[in-house]
Amino acid sequence: MFPHTAFRIRTVAWFLAAGIFLLLVGCSGEEPQPTTLERVQKEGVLRVVTRNSPATYFQDRSGETGFEYELVKRFADNLGVKLQIETADNLDDLFKRLNQPNGPVLAAAGLVASDGRKIQAKFSQPYLDVTPQVIYRNGQPRPSRPEDLVGKRILVLQGSSHAEQLAQLKASQPQLQYEESSAVEVVDLLRMVDEGQIDLTVVDSNELAMNQVYFPNVRVAFDLGDARSLGWAMAPGADDSLRAEVDHFLALVEENGSLQRLKDRYYGHVDVLGYVGAYTFAKHLQQRLPRYEQFFKQSAEKHKVDWRLLAAIGYQESLWQPDATSKTGVRGLMMLTQGTAQAMGVANRLDARQSIQGGGKYLALIHSGLAEELEEPDRTWFALAAYNIGIAHLGDARKLAQAEGLNPNKWLDVQKMLPRLAQKQWYSKTRYGYARGGETVHFVRNIRRYYDILNWVTQPQLEGNQVAESGMHVPGVDKRKPPAEDAPL
Ligand code: GLU
Repeated sequence: MFPHTAFRIRTVAWFLAAGIFLLLVGCSGEEPQPTTLERVQKEGVLRVVTRNSPATYFQDRSGETGFEYELVKRFADNLGVKLQIETADNLDDLFKRLNQPNGPVLAAAGLVASDGRKIQAKFSQPYLDVTPQVIYRNGQPRPSRPEDLVGKRILVLQGSSHAEQLAQLKASQPQLQYEESSAVEVVDLLRMVDEGQIDLTVVDSNELAMNQVYFPNVRVAFDLGDARSLGWAMAPGADDSLRAEVDHFLALVEENGSLQRLKDRYYGHVDVLGYVGAYTFAKHLQQRLPRYEQFFKQSAEKHKVDWRLLAAIGYQESLWQPDATSKTGVRGLMMLTQGTAQAMGVANRLDARQSIQGGGKYLALIHSGLAEELEEPDRTWFALAAYNIGIAHLGDARKLAQAEGLNPNKWLDVQKMLPRLAQKQWYSKTRYGYARGGETVHFVRNIRRYYDILNWVTQPQLEGNQVAESGMHVPGVDKRKPPAEDAPL
């Protein structure tokens, strides 16, 4: 009809739209900001703040380790970026760093996603449930309910979820007194209870689980409320890109079982030692290990294994006693059978140095002889199992796992099958028949527990002259004098 007019209207409309667009972009004056996740990906680095504690992050001689470290390392690997860890001095410092404009983007530090923290942080979905526990010293009257906390010397971490709980409790128990400290970690709180410097503290069940063994006198008085969830924290103001990615990752590791495996590794063997075992281990770490530490190190170096793993096996086998013998004829510190000793070139099984050399050689041999598809760290747990039950029976257990639709390359799955080797309905169908598989599960579990402890007490920052003089805080022992064998502590 009026083509020119129509053309003109279209042109004007186009210019108008372009103008508005330019105006909008021009007004903001900048390119759209990259999201937190995009920034991390572009920089190729995930900066994470944590706490230095056995339940979260620490360094041992082979490098960085700890539950939080391992989980967050997997997350960084998943993102395809490098992980950069920094440790906060205390919880206040941790949240301060998290809220700095150019600070770490994530806190993975065993943090309870408590209400009081909502202004300081936003949390990922939960990855571990823990229970806050009141801790007292064995031999003292055991408090059993919140009212019993009144009149006691109580110390907790400054800014912790427990300080928050106690503050709430004070509303109904105005007499309640407690202190918060920013100069201590959970290990210190437990040591102070253990040594009687304070009456009570409150820590989370996972932290206690990792530390129990160093402090033979600490006991759980009661649970201070229900279980709560741990989450990774991010700055509250940050966009949601990173949180979405974290949640996605946590759902993934939950689903594929690797989160469970990690929990199993760090917290699954918590009750393995019990109080008596914990006390005894603490004592032997001081009194016996120093005599054999050099032998473990020499053997480990020669056979390219971790000396602490060998020491952990030695403890499980004989409690570090060179003259140990069993009814079945295994003997010595590493409890070698006559056949194994001969094959390893051990002339005298009761000689600690020889026994440890033989044990190291045997472990290395088993480890390298395992099926190629077994990967670390599971491979090491399989090697321990084979050290105990033999490669043939272990193979049977792996086949059972496969038949059940479990993963024969994962220790967590295969260990479920091992006890079946002692039940006729199962072992009658296996190639090598009956074996005491349940014992093997305990064997591996105990060794891993000892190994964890040795890893912690031999980490570089605690390193003293000897393991026994490092992180152990056993009351009543003068560390300058070599302790007498089995002297009462
Ligand atoms: N999980 C505690 C918190 O979120 C810190 C560690 C502990 O005391 O067990 O404050």
